[in-house]
Amino acid sequence: MTESSAVPHASSLPGFGTTGFARGEAAEQGSLSHRELELLTGAAKLLEGRRLAVLTGAGLSTDSGIPDYRGPNSVPRSPMTYQQFVGDDALRRRYWARNHVGWHHLRRADPNAGHRAIALMEQRALLTGLITQNVDRLHSVAGSTNVVDLHGTYDRVLCLNCRSHFTREEIAALLEALNPGYLDLAGDAGDVAPDADADVDDTAGFVVAPCPVCGGMLKPDFVYFGENVPKDRVERSYGLVNDAGALLVAGSSLAVMSGLRFVRQAKKDGKPVVIINRGTTRGDDLASLKLEVGVSEALTYLARALPSLGAGVAG
Ligand SMILES: [Zn+2]
Repeated sequence: MTESSAVPHASSLPGFGTTGFARGEAAEQGSLSHRELELLTGAAKLLEGRRLAVLTGAGLSTDSGIPDYRGPNSVPRSPMTYQQFVGDDALRRRYWARNHVGWHHLRRADPNAGHRAIALMEQRALLTGLITQNVDRLHSVAGSTNVVDLHGTYDRVLCLNCRSHFTREEIAALLEALNPGYLDLAGDAGDVAPDADADVDDTAGFVVAPCPVCGGMLKPDFVYFGENVPKDRVERSYGLVNDAGALLVAGSSLAVMSGLRFVRQAKKDGKPVVIINRGTTRGDDLASLKLEVGVSEALTYLARALPSLGAGVAG
């Protein structure tokens, strides 16, 4: 980008004033510094005229009150591995107790301006689709429809024996019945990680629910460390990247290969990669442009600044 890039006034941007953004969100635009606006103008120039694949991570949901445990100011946590979950009764009990409290917290979270900006980009035909590493479903709540939930979603439960699926709500009712008053006893959820892991210590007496169909072992239907992302989701994601003219990464440190591989693919195909994330990412060396800017503010800007693409524009 050039240092002399003119910064368009918000009211001159396409879509501004017709997008239904609340007054408070319009104010966010004003919170960008001159330098940040310059960076974003450069990003808009690079991405203009290209249909985008978007990849998002936990950094997108921090403005919805869900802390990112890989963010620049975070306290590291070690999520349970699949092997620990299936192999250790006490750990599984602890996991479900913390998940029970965390789920109640997570389902009260609302999408933020960043989620709404990506939904707006889809409405404006700017996207091939969205790949998210988040299990919180906030993109779908915000109105995004073409979403690959790469790591699954927090509101579904899978039986590892008969492979039946259940809503998390159904299982919550079972857990309630098996552990009356537990939620009240657990009190404040404390910090809840993006995978619905609440900071609760007293979990020894918690009773785990068996599968209502076969009595088998239930597991939240998202991808644990030590598990692979299901093949169909990976293929759908590659499809979105292949159909796109550029890849936009927002709020992910790309710490896990499940997301980083799409950056590598885009780079290999000679497509621009723009990363918006506060803090270092594993994709920084591959990025055409790295923006250390607030994710919600940056996406809100781009959703308005990028000119609409007509149907039939090739990636
Ligand atoms: Zn079952």
